[in-house]
Amino acid sequence: MKHYIPILRIPGLAALLMLLLLTGGCGSPADQSSAPAATQPPVQTIRIAYLPITHALPLFAAKELETPNGPVKIELIKYGSWPELMDALNTGKVDGASVLIELAVKAREQGIDLRAAALGHKDGNVIITAPSIESVEDLRGTTFAIPHKQSSHKLLLDQLLAEHGLSEQDLQVVELSPPEMPAALAQGQIAGYCVAEPFGAKSVLLHTGKVFARSDELWPDSLCCALVFNGTFLDQHRELAKAFVHDYQAAGDYLTRQPDEQQRIAAKYLKAKDAVLDLSLQWISYKDLRIQEPAYDELIRRMKDARLIRQAPAYEDFVDSSLLD
Ligand code: ZN
Repeated sequence: MKHYIPILRIPGLAALLMLLLLTGGCGSPADQSSAPAATQPPVQTIRIAYLPITHALPLFAAKELETPNGPVKIELIKYGSWPELMDALNTGKVDGASVLIELAVKAREQGIDLRAAALGHKDGNVIITAPSIESVEDLRGTTFAIPHKQSSHKLLLDQLLAEHGLSEQDLQVVELSPPEMPAALAQGQIAGYCVAEPFGAKSVLLHTGKVFARSDELWPDSLCCALVFNGTFLDQHRELAKAFVHDYQAAGDYLTRQPDEQQRIAAKYLKAKDAVLDLSLQWISYKDLRIQEPAYDELIRRMKDARLIRQAPAYEDFVDSSLLD
C-alpha cells in the first residue's frame, strides 16, 4: 500500500499546478492587491446623538477633524429634545450621545446601563432674565423656564434662589424646549430662563434679556453635558469607543488651542448669527474634559438635595476613565 500513495498523489498535484498556471498562480497581481486589504483594519462607524448647542461642540470638531482612512467614522445624529435623544441612547438606537449628565445619572438609577467617558464642556451656562428683573426677589411670583428637571440649569436656579432665601415654591418653574425660550421671554410669558447656549446669548443680542448670573460664579467646575455611551455598545465595541474618545479629546484640545475654530465650527452646525455665537463662546470652555471625582461627588450631592435622585451610581461605576488617554 505504502508505495502507491505518491503515485496516487502525483496526478492531483499536477492538476493543482495546472490550475495555478491557468489562473495566474501565486504572486499574481490579483493576489498582491488582496493581501494588504486583509491586514488593514476596516473603518468602523460610530453613531452619536446630539442637540444643536454649543455644549456639544467637541463632537462637531471631532467630525470636522475626521480623516477618511479612519479608524473611526463618526455619524452625528441630531435630535430636537432631550427625551427623544435619551430614548435613542437608552434603547441602543445610537451608540452614544452628548447629553445632560443628570439625565444619564438618573437613567443609571433606573437600571439602564449608560457610562460616561468625558465632559461636553466646562462652564457655559447663564441665567437670563428680562431687563426689568433687578434682584432675585423680583423673580417671586414669576414664571421661569428650564429645559428639563434633570439638569444643571435647575440646580443653578435652585442655588440662586436659596442664596436669597427663596425656593422654587415662590415662583412657577416650567420646562420649555430651548429654542422656544428666547421668544417666550420676548413675549413676556416667562421672566427668565437657564439653558444651554446659544439660546441665552440670543436674548442678550436682541436686548430682550440680560445676563443675571453665570454658572462659573454660582458653581465653579459645575458639570453639565457629558459624552455618554450605551453600555451594551461599550462592551461589544470597546476599541472603537476608545478610538472615538481619543478623537473627541483631541477635538477638545484643538478647540482650546484654536479659539477661532470654535466660531467657524459652531456656525457650521448651529443656526445662530455670528454675534450670538461669539457671545456664547465667551462663556464656555473645552479645556480638560476629564470628569473629576470631586466634581462628580458635588453633582450627586446637589442632585440628592434637590431630590432628583436617591440611589446615585458610584463614580467608578458610572465614569469609565479607562476610555480616556
Ligand atoms: Zn451642557
